[in-house]
Amino acid sequence: MIEIALAFLAGLLIGSFLNVCVFRLPRDLSVITPARSFCPFCEETIAWYDNIPVLSYILLRAKCRRCGARIPMRYPVVELATAIAFAISVAAFGVTPPALKYAVFSAIMITLIASDLEERILPDEFTIGGALAGLILAWFVPLRGEFAFLILPYSWGTRWLSVGEAVLGAGVSSGSIWLAGWLFEKIRHREGLGLGDVKMIMMIGAFLGLPAALLTLIAASLVGAIGGLLYIKIAGKDASTYELPFGSFLGVAALAVAIYTEAFVRLHPR
Ligand SMILES: [Zn+2]
Repeated sequence: MIEIALAFLAGLLIGSFLNVCVFRLPRDLSVITPARSFCPFCEETIAWYDNIPVLSYILLRAKCRRCGARIPMRYPVVELATAIAFAISVAAFGVTPPALKYAVFSAIMITLIASDLEERILPDEFTIGGALAGLILAWFVPLRGEFAFLILPYSWGTRWLSVGEAVLGAGVSSGSIWLAGWLFEKIRHREGLGLGDVKMIMMIGAFLGLPAALLTLIAASLVGAIGGLLYIKIAGKDASTYELPFGSFLGVAALAVAIYTEAFVRLHPR
């Protein structure tokens, strides 16, 4: 129980850093310097006691202490979501390499969801960087390797077959979505998919393997098509110009698929 509570606390702190990334990466600012957070409106450095995850947001009533500018709801939401994801990872896997892998995966997903919603940007640091992290983690936390077993020699052993599955997951899923986007552009003469989405599905494939990446793609397209149309109707947006945050749909779908295929199965063994 104590390790789940500690994972939750670690998630709050990491979530606080992810918020810094969501704000600074799309603006080409360093996420390291300045080390202290600042108010984007009055540029005042934020004191440590006003920078406590979730708590400060509540105590400050969502306003900057100096200038009164509104603090976006995204801050406590990202912090809480990361904390919950870390707690679920440790609850499902204990303090193990798989828990670390899924904590890293959910942290990246939460950042990309928030960044796409807010800025319509999926930073390369998280998509390409995340894909590399996924390939490396595949060696330490073996994927089941459904497709790798069909194509690669059995003699490679579990770890290398797992890396093969991650490479297949990254390559085939991103390749097919890129091809679909390219065809759409040729036929409809407008951009169907951003390159950021392609890089994001590559990262998801590297972490979850090919079957889960394809499942994520299908789920995200369904949610995006139905949810997006509903939103455009309800909010009265212009469907021909409104850009849907497809990366956010991908992120939500990927988290659902990861929880369903990994954490849920372990928490409820048959
Ligand atoms: Zn301020």
